[in-house]
Amino acid sequence: MEDIVSLCKRRGFVFQASEIYGGLAGFYDYGPLGVELLNNIKQEWWQAMVHEHENIFGVDGAIIQNPKLWEASGHIAGFTDPLVDCKNCGARHRADHLAGTDSTDLLELKKLLTDKACPSCGKKALMEPRKYNMMMKTWIGPVEDDSSIAYLRPETAGSIFTNYENVRETMRAKLPFGIAQIGKAFRNEISPRDFIFRVRELEQMEMQYFINPKDEKESYERWREFAWTFVTERMGINEENIQWHEHGPEERAHYAAAAHDIYFKFPQGFKELMGTHDRTDFDLGNHQRVSGKDLQYYEEETKQKFIPYVIESSMGLGRIFLAVLINAYCEDEQKGEKRIFLKLPEHLASVKYAVSPLLKNKPELVDKAREVYKMLKEKYGAVMWDDNGNIGKRYRRQDEIGTPNCVVIDFETLENNTVTIRDRDTTEQKRVSIDELTNR
Ligand code: ATP
Repeated sequence: MEDIVSLCKRRGFVFQASEIYGGLAGFYDYGPLGVELLNNIKQEWWQAMVHEHENIFGVDGAIIQNPKLWEASGHIAGFTDPLVDCKNCGARHRADHLAGTDSTDLLELKKLLTDKACPSCGKKALMEPRKYNMMMKTWIGPVEDDSSIAYLRPETAGSIFTNYENVRETMRAKLPFGIAQIGKAFRNEISPRDFIFRVRELEQMEMQYFINPKDEKESYERWREFAWTFVTERMGINEENIQWHEHGPEERAHYAAAAHDIYFKFPQGFKELMGTHDRTDFDLGNHQRVSGKDLQYYEEETKQKFIPYVIESSMGLGRIFLAVLINAYCEDEQKGEKRIFLKLPEHLASVKYAVSPLLKNKPELVDKAREVYKMLKEKYGAVMWDDNGNIGKRYRRQDEIGTPNCVVIDFETLENNTVTIRDRDTTEQKRVSIDELTNR
């Protein structure tokens, strides 16, 4: 993890939020290269989820919603994590993490923590574990009292459910259909940690698929399959770095009848990357009850009315970003020197081409290189100009950020309009004509 954190900072992928003020635990900013990678991941997900399905529609809901939404969804009462305080030093820890279990059952945690010492002070002074609500609060309007409390959404799913009827009607959608959303969510995590793995402000890519209850099992399996294929084929993650994890009854969220996570081999161990959940009619049923609006679906063929079931596909953007970087991180030796390179799939790489003149003090080379740079930039956008240091150093720099192609303009370019193009993974150079570059 240290290697990744250091690379992210050194090369402008991720910075600590408010770094000049000492940072803020659980909050991060994405830098120039980070935001490119992030956008590429989002775009790929949107493409796979929305554009490649005729029955999945996008929305972009508000972060703050009527608090009744979170009452109905069960978050105000039940969006909790088990917390344990240390009597000696006052530190607070996630009880399940400290106990090394997936269970959130307080009695079981109490037993497991009996002989544990506080990781902060080393004393055996842990109090009884208790539930802690992770919703972030704010107040709307000038008066800060109970009637003006609102919550920053803890997941994007909320406004998908409240828009179910709007989308169904406006898109004239029939079951099954899905609603997808990418956006920020906030969780007051007890102990944010492991870089961007567990943060308090996160971004999620979620899709809720509304189905006839009779299709529950088949649909659930289909979305599990989608999850695996998306992670391996679209994100380029090696199969040996991921595994399935099925939630037991003590682990499952308050809304889920079944849940399968994909775990990724993060440096701290195999941990949750994304989840596929069977939420049954929990959400629409509760929203119908609390709002008093009829959210039943009328099926013309059978003339029946029912509350649709929901299969959810949910992925943290920061976590997939981290997994993509870890999966791509490679070290090898080139001419007796250690080399770090990111073997990112080309469609995800922050920079697609780097363009350099062989020598930066030869105006004829620089002019020609500028011309090639401009041409590639118009076509691909994510193209970097790099004339700093010698060619070897430039290649190393581009390798570290995962640029798949480095183009160099040399004296031969001036004679026959060809350039060298170097492959990041093999380090092999080929000579190609300039026209070929934009027709690849
Ligand atoms: P965890 O068990 O790790 O706390 P969760 O089961 O609460 O996660 P979900 O509520 O299913 O997570 O959220 C969906 C996805 O959002 C997760 O699979 C994960 O990728 C991401 N996610 C959840 N909490 C965080 C967080 N605090 N920081 C970063 N990503 C998160």
